[in-house]
Amino acid sequence: MLLVSEPSLGADEKAALAEVIDSNWITMGARVHAFEQAFADMHGAADAVAVSSCTAALHLALDAFDIGPGDEVLVPSLSFVATANSAVYCGAKPVFVDIQSLDRPLIDPADAAKKCSSRTRAVVVMHYGGMLCDPAAWRDFAGRNGLLLIEDSAHCVGPERGEIYGDVAAFSFYGNKNITTGEGGMVISHDPAVTERIRRKRGGGLTSGTYQRLGLRAGSYDVTTLGYNYRMTELNAAIGLRQLEKLPNWNRTRRHLMAEYSGAVARLCPEVTLPICDATQNPHIMAAVLPSNADRPAVMGGLHDDGVQTSMHYPAIHTLSWYRERYPGIRLPITEAFAKRELTLPLHPKMTPADVEHVLASLARHLGNQGETDDVA
Ligand SMILES: *Cc1c(COP(=O)(O)O)cnc(C)c1O
Repeated sequence: MLLVSEPSLGADEKAALAEVIDSNWITMGARVHAFEQAFADMHGAADAVAVSSCTAALHLALDAFDIGPGDEVLVPSLSFVATANSAVYCGAKPVFVDIQSLDRPLIDPADAAKKCSSRTRAVVVMHYGGMLCDPAAWRDFAGRNGLLLIEDSAHCVGPERGEIYGDVAAFSFYGNKNITTGEGGMVISHDPAVTERIRRKRGGGLTSGTYQRLGLRAGSYDVTTLGYNYRMTELNAAIGLRQLEKLPNWNRTRRHLMAEYSGAVARLCPEVTLPICDATQNPHIMAAVLPSNADRPAVMGGLHDDGVQTSMHYPAIHTLSWYRERYPGIRLPITEAFAKRELTLPLHPKMTPADVEHVLASLARHLGNQGETDDVA
């Protein structure tokens, strides 16, 4: 089965895990620190904070600015549910914003402006598939409205993405992301005071961790803020360090595969569009938009029978039961149309151009079958 995404793990990662076990320092030590430094360097930042997930990173980003009850946070509905959950964790209200178009499935500044109120405190932008939300437009939007700007950068990792432009950016190292640590995440802010608050909140609000206290004469600590346990283990960080070294090559492979997809779609199923192509240097998922009359479940079933896994990114958050029950009556026409027609095709660095050809031939066959009569070959 050709999978939608697959981690690339091997001898390097195995050796890295063995080194951690031999060192007998299992969490929040030298490797977490080294991973933070290497990740910050790659993204043009002075510092970064490793955490247990991107969900934790997004929560800390809002919590570090005391977002709370009575506040509203603008979020795209076309995202993973964690993007909206982070506002709910803080007691704030997520306000769902539509996307720009089927070709540009990113949170729309014009719709965001309409949904801005006196209670709006923050906006979370999400770089769908690796397409960067416009830095100048969003900095300007946040500045004009006095909002905190958060980047959910789970899809957009690597030197190609350019400088972090939000007050805080959150990354994910879940198993299906461009690099993985199993579970894990990272927070970057260019403001050292914000970074320090987030670092403290990651580990119970303590003024120092066990590892730092090794080098101190005094063994005690104080707690100056409400904290959580969002720490990363040395095992995760050791894998992350090895993955990070390979990220630029993997992103290059993803670019080449994306170009193959682009050419094969033009040849084999021109009625399908690929919004990510030409719009990013570090693609994360190969999102395809099917014709409006396509029977997506049938197409997915056909591809599955041909050994090709597919998925969807995403069911719109405002249509999920938990959100629909609490925030009823929301209509986001472009998000809803995109969620109905989007099909995610396999994209990961272990794939070859022949795999892409196989996927597209299968897709063309199953799209072509629809509506045709039995006497058509
Ligand atoms: C994966 C993902 C997350 C959550 O990441 P975790 O590390 O699994 O918590 C958040 N937002 C987006 C857009 C994602 O793709």
